Amino acid sequence: MATKLLTLLLFLAFYLGSPTTVHRKLLVFLLDGFRHDYISDEALESLPGFKEIVSRGVKVDYLTPDFPSLSYPNYYSLMTGRHCEVHQMTGNYMWDPNTNKSFDIGVNKDSLMPLWWNGSEPLWVTMTKARRNVSMYYWPGCEVEILGVRPSYCLEYKNVPTDTDFANAVSNALDSFKSGKTDLAAIYYERIDVEGHHYGPSSTQRKNALRAVDTILQHMLKWIQERGLQDTLDIILFSDHGMTDIFWMDKVIELQDHINLSDLLQMKDRGPVVSLWPVPGKHSEVAHKLKLVEHMTVYEKEAIPTRFHYKKGKFVSPLTLVADEGWFITEKKETLPFWMNSTGKREGWQRGWHGYDNELMDMRGIFLAYGPDFKSNFRAAPIRAVDVYNVLCNLAGISPLPNNGSWSRVACMLNGHPSEAHLVQLSSCALAFLLLLLFVQQI
Ligand SMILES: [Zn+2]
Repeated sequence: MATKLLTLLLFLAFYLGSPTTVHRKLLVFLLDGFRHDYISDEALESLPGFKEIVSRGVKVDYLTPDFPSLSYPNYYSLMTGRHCEVHQMTGNYMWDPNTNKSFDIGVNKDSLMPLWWNGSEPLWVTMTKARRNVSMYYWPGCEVEILGVRPSYCLEYKNVPTDTDFANAVSNALDSFKSGKTDLAAIYYERIDVEGHHYGPSSTQRKNALRAVDTILQHMLKWIQERGLQDTLDIILFSDHGMTDIFWMDKVIELQDHINLSDLLQMKDRGPVVSLWPVPGKHSEVAHKLKLVEHMTVYEKEAIPTRFHYKKGKFVSPLTLVADEGWFITEKKETLPFWMNSTGKREGWQRGWHGYDNELMDMRGIFLAYGPDFKSNFRAAPIRAVDVYNVLCNLAGISPLPNNGSWSRVACMLNGHPSEAHLVQLSSCALAFLLLLLFVQQI
């Protein structure tokens, strides 16, 4: 009887818990700054491409980004399954006091140094090491040698790839799946984020960028059929964070009004999250003065909330300023990050930003998927950025490295895995059966 019981328990443990691995071709989209409600049920009515994908596959209610809700930290959380303090990519702007090197949103030469990237192994590196072919299109960081490895193909990021670039990348990726040259293709699209910053999340310009993506996705659905890839290719679309309205000039915190800027050894980034390194001996004074400022919170490194999974990062500064939603921190108004609008001069006002507390509704992003391994017309509960990695590994047939993601939050979206309601039902049946077995054993 004991053996039977053990067999049953082993079966249940396997059926309910273990991530099985398949070996599928994977097409992954990273759509920067795509807020979860851009594809609300109402919005989907005028987005036939997205609507088709939602009805054929899985849509989660939203994806909660890691803190800070900025691009680079989340690109890496999505591809490593680890929180920022674990993978070490803690900002779009970082400074290493030991080497005096800076990472400035990937645009300066020093930001390509392995120093910033070697904190964790992203999926494309693991796959390349396993001799699998990876093609990456405009994906930030694909040109960097990480832990000694580069993907088999990397079309380097350039400032705001166009819609034509995006369409060509999709068609090229599908061709390389067809010819067997690619196991994973990863495509980055930036324009939804850019228009959201310039004109605001509710603007016509942002909506037009989304419609452009929708049109290309409609073509993609057709191209997949034409190439006969529908039974072998899984498609996953996700974003790094959302976007909220900001109020240029009205809701600005100017640090020069509160502290002497020469008391700072270094300052990184402007906006919702600002990192400060006060000069030796000035820490307490700077912290004390800034703690009196309204509409922002000043954190000493050790006091940063654990829920941010941020404070243990090695590039985290002694003082971190976090603005209230909609507020913007800078040294002085003149240094606000204006953009080059139609005047050709850098004097355009920004209307949208992100980076705030990652639990805020507006910071939340999307996750959509469809293909042979996903349930169809399945609405899933919210997931977190770190959860995506386990899905990707599972489909690619790669054993995931230790990570902070939750398998149980994502397993329900895959075919062959019971949905949550089903699980509860099954668990109670199993429990009843076990009790019965034990009872029979007694008599
Ligand atoms: Zn952005």
